[in-house]
Amino acid sequence: MSRIVVLGGAESGVGAAVLAKVKGFDVFLSDYGTIKPEYAAMLDRWQIPYEQGGHTEEKILSAGEVVKSPGIPNSAPIVKKLDAAGIHVISEIEFAARYDSAKKICITGSNGKTTTTSLIYYLLQQAGLNVGLGGNIGKSYALQVATEKHDYYVLEISSFQLDGCFDFRPDIAIITNITPDHLDRYDYNMENYVRAKFRIIRNLSREDCFIFDSDDQITIEHLDRIVTQARMLPFSQENKLAQGAYLEGEKIVMKYKEDETEIYLKELALGGRHNVYNSMAAALAAKAAGISNSVIRDSLKSFQPIEHRLEPVLSVKDVLYINDSKATNVDAAWYALECQTRPVVWIVGGTDKGNDYSVLRELVKEKVKAIVCLGVDNAKIHEAFGDIVPTMVDTRSADDAVKQSAKLATAGDVVLLSPCCASFDLFTCYEDRGEKFKDAVRNL
Ligand code: ADP
Repeated sequence: MSRIVVLGGAESGVGAAVLAKVKGFDVFLSDYGTIKPEYAAMLDRWQIPYEQGGHTEEKILSAGEVVKSPGIPNSAPIVKKLDAAGIHVISEIEFAARYDSAKKICITGSNGKTTTTSLIYYLLQQAGLNVGLGGNIGKSYALQVATEKHDYYVLEISSFQLDGCFDFRPDIAIITNITPDHLDRYDYNMENYVRAKFRIIRNLSREDCFIFDSDDQITIEHLDRIVTQARMLPFSQENKLAQGAYLEGEKIVMKYKEDETEIYLKELALGGRHNVYNSMAAALAAKAAGISNSVIRDSLKSFQPIEHRLEPVLSVKDVLYINDSKATNVDAAWYALECQTRPVVWIVGGTDKGNDYSVLRELVKEKVKAIVCLGVDNAKIHEAFGDIVPTMVDTRSADDAVKQSAKLATAGDVVLLSPCCASFDLFTCYEDRGEKFKDAVRNL
């Protein structure tokens, strides 16, 4: 019986371990940190041996193949040892797809992945298809392949998951856009990050579709340098297209093969320019999956906004509080600021991932009346905006950030948490930051 070792005992790792068990492998899971009780219980239930608090090398280096959690960088000592020993290291997605014949719609990109993934999942559900949702969105794809049966999967895939994909082949692949993010994991080299994203289309054949943002320079430049046989379905807010989706006045025009349909912007459930892109990408994916125009239109109308993404929380004394905690990079915050029509008190800061704030300066000058920094080290934010925003304060908790914002805002303003940064300096994750922000707003 060949041996599979899984590194990382959270959602994706435990899912992969269960699938390996179901497929008859000799499975072992190892986590350098602590495994959460619910995952440990699941491993026990499936009688999968595991360790936590360290890696036992003999047990790991005896693997035929290793499934690595996307959270573990290639620079981790155990991964280097596996490399040196010539042991193949793959992602949960690569592993699960070997045992899955469902049609797969896969979404990657720097921003808009979760929104686009959720939209497509909703569209397929509304069309009555038997569809599973998985990947980076927080639900293990492998676990579903092990325990459920679906005709379609909609999978959100991060660049870290793509790093461990080799033969994986989606039927419909989407790159929402590419802007600098996670460069710390790519030797601060943008080209490496772009190449990781483009791994999503490397195995596409002529029956498959590639959906992409043709307004995105980075995507287009890279596409010019590679060859793909896939059917190309671009989307754009700037140019008319022969195939794909584009903006014409106040409507989206979608052209797919011989079919042409229109969707009015005022009918879209999700506001903001970035969500026009996400809606276009989702509509094209649904169209390529054979869903009717009327279902697409109705679903884009009835979709409910998702938590932590430009989520309106509450109006207090006519000040609207918006939770965009998921905006963890500059581009995401750009779109969040861009769609504000009222003066903004901007809560920003956290763990900086190599941000270049200069692209935000024009927007900040135009829209932001005060900045509330929420982070341990706010020096870069002061440096970037100190000369254009008259009021800047430093805070170290969501509670204090909301209280300071409430003091600075007047009736008619917006308090926008769109932090541009990861959350790990003060919070456990972006959800934790968003929840604490919302609690603080409710307690005002
Ligand atoms: P991801 O899953 O890629 O992190 P989300 O769909 O969770 O993206 O959205 C995160 C944040 O990114 C949103 O709150 C919004 O501010 C911004 N955003 C969403 N879609 C886009 C887009 N297409 N282009 C740029 N920014 C976007």
